[in-house]
Amino acid sequence: SAVFNLQEASKDQVQEFLDSFDTVLTDCDGVLWIDNNAIAGAADAMNYFRKLGKKIFYVTNNSTKIRSEFALKATQLGFIASPEEILSTAYLVAHYLKGIGFTKKVYLLGSNGIGEELKAVGIRHYGVGPDHVKPDFKSMQPSELDPEVGAVVVGFDEHVSYPKFMKAASYLASEECLFIATNTDERFPKAGSIVVPGTGTLVRAVETCSERKALVLGKPHSYVRKYLESCGLNPARTLMIGDRCNTDIELGVRCGFQTLLVMSGVTNIKELEKLRTDKTPPLPDVVLPKLGDLLTLIQP
Ligand code: PLP
Ligand code: CA
Repeated sequence: SAVFNLQEASKDQVQEFLDSFDTVLTDCDGVLWIDNNAIAGAADAMNYFRKLGKKIFYVTNNSTKIRSEFALKATQLGFIASPEEILSTAYLVAHYLKGIGFTKKVYLLGSNGIGEELKAVGIRHYGVGPDHVKPDFKSMQPSELDPEVGAVVVGFDEHVSYPKFMKAASYLASEECLFIATNTDERFPKAGSIVVPGTGTLVRAVETCSERKALVLGKPHSYVRKYLESCGLNPARTLMIGDRCNTDIELGVRCGFQTLLVMSGVTNIKELEKLRTDKTPPLPDVVLPKLGDLLTLIQP
């Protein structure tokens, strides 16, 4: 299907679009806000969806916060949001492990956001915080490993270090040890010449040294859909909004959702033009410069 610029649609077509879904899944960073700044008009658009009676879920690959922290951040930036509407990767990890009846301990190469969500479902963990390289780092002893560990979880970890990779790979040498990752985003969005490596960097490193593949729970992987289907989601009447093709739009395409790509985050107008001419998947159904532009299209 051709990428359709909603700005070129008639009022009737925009209305038809709005009537075509009753659940809205939205990415957070790049669609609703960038870091701690709301994107103009995004809150009005989301709150308008809510006024129309649409179900809303905030679907973020960011694993560094717990659901109530995201809900608070959203609220402070003008979005109506409750913790139950937040589908963050830290929460998904806890939900997944609880769902399979996991009772052992987690070695966590990640942040306290995941740690707190694990604690909330009664799952023990260790590993958060600095683990510094020692001069004799290769002499790590098996006695330094905890026999209670039954899963390695990799998320964003600003304290990532060589000893952490050693521990993760050593736990994963046991076949029974589960290997779970939050997401595989390559980079953080950032203008200019500085590249900020994303969680995918860490996941690939642990995959390499453990010679295993992680089960990835975040976008574009379908655990999100599995979770949402248990909430009564109808894929055909669901809209996924995102700023990134290889996570948000890919998730939407895989799950049979409608997709809206906005240009306020990772993907820019230039890349959109390329999308429209190249037709390389995954392609969104519709595009807008930013989510807030939707309201201006239906106002009299
Ligand atoms: N992971 C981390 C650690 C982040 O800080 C962010 C954005 O701030 C993301 C992933 C991407 O989040 P989203 O899926 O909402 O764009
Ligand atoms: Ca995003």
